[in-house]
Amino acid sequence: MKKHNFYAGPSILPQITIDNVAEAVKDFAGTGLSVMEISHRSKEFIAVMDEAQQLFKELLNIPETYHVLFLGGGASTQFTMIPMNFMKSKSAYLNTGSWASKAVKEAGLYGEVVEVASSKDKTFSYIPKGYDVPADADYFHITTNNTIYGTQIREDIDCKIPLIADMSSDIFCRPVDISKYALIYGGAQKNLAPAGVTFVIVKEDALGKVDRAIPTMLNYRTHIEKGSMFNTPPVLPVFAALQTLKWLVSQGGIEKMYERNLAKAALLYDEIDRNKLFKPTVGDPGDRSIMNACWVMNDEFKDMESAFLDYATGKGMVGIKGHRSVGGFRASIYNALPVESIEALIAAMKDFEKNN
Ligand SMILES: *Cc1c(COP(=O)(O)O)cnc(C)c1O
Repeated sequence: MKKHNFYAGPSILPQITIDNVAEAVKDFAGTGLSVMEISHRSKEFIAVMDEAQQLFKELLNIPETYHVLFLGGGASTQFTMIPMNFMKSKSAYLNTGSWASKAVKEAGLYGEVVEVASSKDKTFSYIPKGYDVPADADYFHITTNNTIYGTQIREDIDCKIPLIADMSSDIFCRPVDISKYALIYGGAQKNLAPAGVTFVIVKEDALGKVDRAIPTMLNYRTHIEKGSMFNTPPVLPVFAALQTLKWLVSQGGIEKMYERNLAKAALLYDEIDRNKLFKPTVGDPGDRSIMNACWVMNDEFKDMESAFLDYATGKGMVGIKGHRSVGGFRASIYNALPVESIEALIAAMKDFEKNN
């Protein structure tokens, strides 16, 4: 039976990414060697790194004044690198979920952290609005998509101090006005590549404002100067990322992807709203993520949760169990997820409603 992959991360990738990686694992670029056993300094791999950086810039219209880096360590290492490289004495954070909370905790090691607003009071089911960002903070950190709770900040906010964003789970889901940010980062394993590579988009003149000693590997400057080749980069994940970037180009770019994502998300949320068994966890439609949709059973049907999970699993759905901190269900509907998978999930929801 066909599987419909709704995992939150690592998660679905375009078939062409998987096919091209499978081939390169056996024979990379006609070298007769596997992509896992060639030097990262070979001309063939340097071409991969250069093209990946180039396509990243083209797809997101990244201005000349920014660098694109491919690092190790995951988004979680960025939680530390950001305060180390940007925080003189004070920073501001918007706390919209577990990942944001982890970022706040790391920043606390380097100075004063102002949590400008938090949605923790309601299990992070909304995006706080109308908060004030202190003008004397060194930067303001947001998490644009809250993978666990299914909320998203889908516009590029205006901010008077340097704006830094964790876009781990929504990079390439919509066009972004990069010029509004000092730095954007994310782990690749949600919407781009297998786990192991972390992308960073950083503005040149946002750096160099702190005096502390920064360990070489945790200093953005090191990786900018060496073109992400200071040490051995995650070769295979970077190769895979390039395949996804090429796929994005072949699909018509990010505007097209955004249109499709909006349409896909609308289909699913419409059914969650309509179906008498279910209700969304995020009430305000404007706060709902177009990458991760979360919902629960309506109160009177609470005892049917595991029955629906079993039913959907029997119909080929994989990964729709909600995160343990929210319960219920979550469907991650990343770029590579075909609309047919959403249609199959909706059919399962309708059938289950009819039969019960
Ligand atoms: C998954 C995720 C992370 C953690 O990424 P790692 O690469 O595992 O460190 C951080 N932020 C968000 C928004 C995520 O979805």
